[in-house]
Formats: sequence, C-alpha cells, structure tokens
Amino acid sequence: ATPMAIMIGTGMGAKHGILFKHAEAIEQSARLDVVIFDKTGTLTVGRPEVVDLVVAPGRTKEELFALAAAVEAHSEHPLAVAILARTGPAPVRAEGFTNIDGQGATGTVGGQRVVLGNRILMTQSGVDLTQMADAAERLQGAGRTVVYVGQERGLVGLFAIADAIRPSSLATIKALHQRSVKVAMITGDNRPTAERVAMELGIDIVLADVLPGGKADEVRKLQAQGRRVGMVGDGVNDAPALTQADVGFAIGAGTDVAIDSADIVLMRSDPYDVVQAITIARGTLRKMH
Ligand code: ADP
Ligand code: MG
Repeated sequence: ATPMAIMIGTGMGAKHGILFKHAEAIEQSARLDVVIFDKTGTLTVGRPEVVDLVVAPGRTKEELFALAAAVEAHSEHPLAVAILARTGPAPVRAEGFTNIDGQGATGTVGGQRVVLGNRILMTQSGVDLTQMADAAERLQGAGRTVVYVGQERGLVGLFAIADAIRPSSLATIKALHQRSVKVAMITGDNRPTAERVAMELGIDIVLADVLPGGKADEVRKLQAQGRRVGMVGDGVNDAPALTQADVGFAIGAGTDVAIDSADIVLMRSDPYDVVQAITIARGTLRKMH
C-alpha cells in the first residue's frame, strides 16, 4: 500500500475509534474471509446475571447459596461475580480452592468437596445430572449458561445465567455476510447455549466447549483450510487466538493482554467496528491500484 493510502485509512479508522496498530493490519483486514467472534464480552455485553435457579430435591436454597458463595468467593470469573451478586457474601469461604480453567472451580466446605461449573466438570467429578437434565435443557435452549453446584452426595442445584447480546451484534453479522465474510463464534460455554445465541445472530460456524488454551488451535484449523481469519475478543483467554489470527481485533473495554495481542483495537467496544475496519481497509487497498 502507498504510504498516503495507509495514512488516510489510519485516519479514517481513528475517526471511528478504530486503532490500526500497523500498516499490515489494514492490508490483511481487506482480505479476511472469515471472522471469529468470542461470545462472552464480545457479542454479549459481558455482564452476566443470574436469572433463574433450581434447588435439587431434599436440598434448600440456603444450602445452595452458601456452598456456591463459599467457592465463588475465591474466583474473579464473571460468572462468579454474577453468582455472588445473587447469593450475597459467603458465610464461610471454601478451603483448598482450585480453579479449573474454562470449566469451573472446587473447594472444601464443612469437610465436604464442592464442585461448581459446567456439565463436563460435573461428569468428570462423578456428579449425576439426570434429575436436572430437563431443567438444564430448557434453560440452555433459551440461551442461558447453566452453572451446576454438586457434592459427593450429588447435585445441590443450578444457577441459570444470562448475558445480554450487544445491540449491534446482529447488524454486524448481517453486514459481514453482505461483504462475503463468513462468521464464526467461539466460546468456552456449552454447545446448546452457544447454538441458541448463534441461531439468534445468524452465525455460520459454532465453536463451543472450547477450553481457554484451545482457541488459538481453532484459528489455526481454519487457516489450514486456506482461510484468512480475523479474531475478535476481549479476554485473557482470547489473547493467543488474537495473535494467531491473520488479524486480531481487541474490544477496547477488554483486558490489557487482549489489547496488547491484537492488531486492531476497537476503542468503542462495538463489534460493528469490525465491519467499519474491513470497509475502510478495502477502500484503502482500492486506492492503491
Ligand atoms: P468464555 O470462553 O465464554 O469466556 P470461560 O472459558 O471463562 O468462558 O468458561 C467456560 C465455562 O466454564 C463457563 O461457561 C462456565 O460454565 C464454566 N466456568 C468457568 N469458571 C467458572 C466459575 N468460576 N464459576 C462458574 N462457572 C465457571
Ligand atoms: Mg470473553
């Protein structure tokens, strides 16, 4: 690209709060044919809230709240923050807290191990979920994230958590399709919840149940198919994927690691600015020929 075209493109980006960190970011953006969006905090606002809960037969809400709060009091995960907002502060904190990356957490309360997190973690810990399978299916079908709380004696209950979709997410995906760009969504969240959100937004490819370390691999797999891949994310666990992508876009309100790993920073934290960036980039490249 001519230095002049790049300068103009960079200036146009700046007007929209789109920070191209280097000239190649503009050239690569013009050529993207698939963009992967992180779900939580990127397509959604990233402020999860507990909207429903189910207490297992023979258990009480007080018990569920006390056990969940005891474990989550140690965690800074957005879902932990949401759960604590509902339960109130923990009466006692769990001992021996362990975070299980991308799946949940465990700790000991009153001498008993408590496991809290997604279905995969419960299954691995031997907590039987059948008695709540119907409730979980209904909640996940409505796009809720289900967090189970279990003990050796079995399931104590679950929390259903909602995170609102950003107002511009739907328009973003439509506009990318109009520009012949395919759209994928990647998340550590479970498949039924992810599928529901994806259906609402018209997403082409759903990458669900992805462990934090697996996001970059998913980018690599698409690149191995000969695709030029953009990745949009906000979290610490998005950083390696942002680096691996042909173009990494960081949500401005996201973590410092995500911002440092990206090629483009969206200062307004609006996913639609991915469309703006691609439009500016294509315009810039046209001017060079
Ligand atoms: P994402 O990629 O969507 O940002 P994470 O990788 O952080 O998600 O987490 C993936 C899943 O792991 C969550 O959807 C949740 O089910 C579970 N999880 C992880 N940490 C916690 C926690 N502290 N409390 C409850 N659930 C958790
Ligand atoms: Mg995120």
